Amino acid sequence: MHKKVVVITGGAGFIGSHLCDKLIKEDFKVICLDNLITSSTGNIKYLLKDKNFRFIKHNVTKYIDIRGKVDYVLHFASPASPVDYLKFPIQTLKVGSLGTHNVLGLCKEKRAKFMLASTSEIYGDPLVHPQPESYWGHVNCVGVRGCYDEAKRFSEAITMAYHRVHRLDTKIVRIFNTYGPRMRINDGRVIPNFIYQAINNKPITVYGEGKQIRSFCYISDLIEGIYKLILSGINEPLNLGNPREFTIIELANLILKLTKSKSKIIFRPLPEDDPKQRQPDISRAKRILKWQPKIKLEEGLRMTMEWFKTEIILALLNPKKA
Ligand code: UDP
Repeated sequence: MHKKVVVITGGAGFIGSHLCDKLIKEDFKVICLDNLITSSTGNIKYLLKDKNFRFIKHNVTKYIDIRGKVDYVLHFASPASPVDYLKFPIQTLKVGSLGTHNVLGLCKEKRAKFMLASTSEIYGDPLVHPQPESYWGHVNCVGVRGCYDEAKRFSEAITMAYHRVHRLDTKIVRIFNTYGPRMRINDGRVIPNFIYQAINNKPITVYGEGKQIRSFCYISDLIEGIYKLILSGINEPLNLGNPREFTIIELANLILKLTKSKSKIIFRPLPEDDPKQRQPDISRAKRILKWQPKIKLEEGLRMTMEWFKTEIILALLNPKKA
């Protein structure tokens, strides 16, 4: 029997590369597209030798030409850390708009099923807590985070338009804060920052008073949810994340405890438009996909810390590659 062919954009990124691993394991042929703006082939180095895996360096804001049949296209390309999208606002807007348009065009041509990686950022600084899929959000379109929030909101809108007009089978996954191995240690997000600082006994930089709320999902839980969604018949947006919430100061203290670090906590100004609260309402995912996250924060942090420690040692041994 012929294997199903899946194209993954952003497949060398943090979530994209875990998705490549999962689909290779599930016996798919994987074509990974990535322009490596915020990702690295280091994330897919074990897959490069696999005959069912192909990497193409390509920017999906340009026309995408893939020969042969394609069964699924998963659109995961985009800068996703606030530090990254503040640095690359135009690229972020382009990959969410032009990129999503090109990828949907590829799906239409191949009659492939489509999945958009959307985000909890489409809810902005939410006034409803926790956030169900039915909440329309509270977004500052001209603020500094607008480039990401609006790009993803546009992506969702054009996805639904292709679903309605061209009858494409489309899925939209709204991903809440996710963490785990293969995040870049310098990507600026809170978990890599705190782990790096704690391991090196540097000050832990809490923004604002640290009272803002986030909930963190371990990567393997997220990937299980995404895989179930790919195979499902759902076309409406679906939240995936871990609903257990923490304040940022609680997270800092937990990482200090787990690393037995001597670091002190220091307070830095809260970035502009930083959401005060964020927690997924996952009732729909629980009901329809029979999915819920299993890994507790403490367990996930331990696995992530082990990985970061190895990365730091490898970088010290081989500074050129780092
Ligand atoms: N944050 C922090 N210190 C850091 C990095 C982030 O206190 O060194 C805070 C940030 O202000 C935000 C939360 O941690 O309230 C999560 O930030 P992250 O960049 O991980 O992603 P976000 O949830 O804002 O998209």
